[in-house]
Amino acid sequence: MLKEPKSMKELRYHTFRDIGDGEARVWVFKRTCSECKKALMSKPRNKKGKTKVRSKIYVCPECEHSIPKKEYEADLVANVKYTCPECKHKGEIQVPFKRKKIKGIKTLRIKCEKCDSNIDITKKLKQPKKKKK
Ligand SMILES: [Zn+2]
Ligand SMILES: [Zn+2]
Repeated sequence: MLKEPKSMKELRYHTFRDIGDGEARVWVFKRTCSECKKALMSKPRNKKGKTKVRSKIYVCPECEHSIPKKEYEADLVANVKYTCPECKHKGEIQVPFKRKKIKGIKTLRIKCEKCDSNIDITKKLKQPKKKKK
């Protein structure tokens, strides 16, 4: 059984997607600080409390230990609960959270453990903002 998040604050990434006749839910936990093991590491915040999304580091709010973004993101684990669009099998798996470009879109590809078909969970595309007239 996969560990379910208690709150969204624990998560680095979360999505729920319809895929054909199936669906997939993906969640990725934030990493616990390797130094103090007391807190979850996240991107630093500015003085107003807003996350600096472009920051190249992740910091621990307890001990201020920081690691580069690349290192932090290199071994995140994706928890996936899915209903296979092909065979309707309901499965749960853990895979490295690494998205590959498939047809130009960053995609997390998993395989149904029953029928072996690919289940592609694409990165949500940002809706283009409507231009003000
Ligand atoms: Zn720490
Ligand atoms: Zn299947």
